[in-house]
Amino acid sequence: MATIALVGGEVATPSGELRRGTVVVRGSTIATINPEGGCPPEAEVIDARGRVVSPGFIDVHIHGAAGHDIMDATPEALAAISGFAAQHGVTGFLPTTVTAGLEATWAAIGAVDELQRAGAPGAAALGVHLEGPYISGERMGAQNPAHVRGAEPSEYVRLFELGNIRLISLAPEMPGIERLVRFAVARGAAVAVGHSSATYDQVLAAVGWGLSQATHTYNAMREMHHREPGATGAVLTCDAIYAQVIVDLVHVHPAMVKLLVRAKGPDRAVLVTDAMRAAGMPDGRYDLGGQETIVKGGEARLPAGNLAGSTLTMERAVRNVMGAAELTLPQALRLATRNPAASIGLGGRKGQLAPGYDADIVLLDADLRVALTMVGGRVVYRA
Ligand SMILES: [Zn+2]
Repeated sequence: MATIALVGGEVATPSGELRRGTVVVRGSTIATINPEGGCPPEAEVIDARGRVVSPGFIDVHIHGAAGHDIMDATPEALAAISGFAAQHGVTGFLPTTVTAGLEATWAAIGAVDELQRAGAPGAAALGVHLEGPYISGERMGAQNPAHVRGAEPSEYVRLFELGNIRLISLAPEMPGIERLVRFAVARGAAVAVGHSSATYDQVLAAVGWGLSQATHTYNAMREMHHREPGATGAVLTCDAIYAQVIVDLVHVHPAMVKLLVRAKGPDRAVLVTDAMRAAGMPDGRYDLGGQETIVKGGEARLPAGNLAGSTLTMERAVRNVMGAAELTLPQALRLATRNPAASIGLGGRKGQLAPGYDADIVLLDADLRVALTMVGGRVVYRA
């Protein structure tokens, strides 16, 4: 088994500090984290001096990048997105569908399954995030209203049988949803409130069924009012809910990012990109779920003006949240590593640099540019 030592970097510890040390990787897992100098003689050395050694980022909400979309459902598209994500420090991601026709959704789930089996060239696909189609017609955002449907068991059971569904975003107030939430949780998926007009009480009822996450908090969600906290108020105040947030400083005002991070504390805020195919591409016209999207100054919108995903990358989200919420780097890294891993039930093996954990590691320069990305002990990207 190959041994690799990342030597002399500032290691982000599970306790949330940076400490100089050496991370020793054996095979696909982390063997030990030694104080400075502790490098086994047989190890292949990676010089990490002057760099931060962080657990790899985990993006649980990404539709596309580099000109490709999960809904393209081809091996080339998924490989390109996996490679692009790795260049931005992501070691694990949930390819995310949009509300679409059944056959398009089947194809996307099948393509992710194939990528998982064949092995991704960059970031690993950790399963599928189904965003819709069981959402509210009142909170479409950039989802396509033509394909919103009621939750029909014969239909969603099939979706779960076709692949590894790890997260599903839905509107708890829609008919038939309790049964779906209980089914999804029993199958090992996490359930998120998203694209929803649910009231405060409706979200708390869904937490009782097993709901544990919120998709892009604030966006496409019933707003907070001091007499009816709404879905947003439930997400901010219920400790059982992991709150995804898009910190591109376009989707959410920095003050509301700060409010979310303070309300959720160190363990329950989750950075996501919600990136679409224009991430890493020039401004222009693109497609999202069959709808034309215009990207200008990096902002993606439908012709009507609705935000349509982002062109955000995870290392920029980390930088942005430090500023918006006044976090230190180790505090911000947690929102991109440990919390997203825990939010999808992978907290026992991903999201931390600790012995026995998967060797999913990113080296960051002082200005947070990604210098190297390692997935399961394999270097998949070097700047
Ligand atoms: Zn969405």
